[in-house]
Amino acid sequence: MLVVMLGPPGVGKGTQCGRLVTHLGWQVVSTGAMLRQAIDEGSALGKTAASYMNAGKLVPNQLVIQVVQEELLSRGTGAGWLFDGFPRTIEQAESLRRMLATMGRELDHVILLTADEVELRQRMLQRATIEGRSDDTPETIAERLVTYRQQTRPLIEFYRSRGLLREVDGMGSPDEVFARILAALPPDAATGTG
Ligand code: AMP
Repeated sequence: MLVVMLGPPGVGKGTQCGRLVTHLGWQVVSTGAMLRQAIDEGSALGKTAASYMNAGKLVPNQLVIQVVQEELLSRGTGAGWLFDGFPRTIEQAESLRRMLATMGRELDHVILLTADEVELRQRMLQRATIEGRSDDTPETIAERLVTYRQQTRPLIEFYRSRGLLREVDGMGSPDEVFARILAALPPDAATGTG
């Protein structure tokens, strides 16, 4: 089962992907986490990525696609994979489709987590205090929401028109949202056998 977790910044993609990994034993590809790791390591990729991330912009497609490609090639696609925060542009979505096709695989579902912007801003500001993420400042948060609207939101229609989209209300407690996600996935996925 190959699943993309789509949604605006702050909606809880990372939290819910973590739960799915624990619950279903799936693997996760989180481009945000991989980029933050590159920054911590002080690599060339990290230095380039930081300038975009701290401005609330997307890291260029080519760089992110390369990171994902290397990850998929080194780990191979096992039974279950979750893509957290990737793709974020139509170009990335097309690349992902091609990468998976070369492995004889295709996406099964795209979960769209939704929440209103007031809630998203609050969650990100709260996260700034708890996790100390350098891109959770009020200015960067505003910019990330604009970036989402302009560059990532078109993916909703892209995946809806392909019959892959499952919309899940991301408001409420992490437990409530997690239960909704499990209900939105087919039964074989939720028991971990899919
Ligand atoms: P996230 O942890 O998913 O919220 O990502 C944090 C930041 O990393 C984003 O605001 C972007 O600057 C960058 N980033 C993560 N994933 C991608 C992606 N798929 N394409 C471009 N930039 C990304």
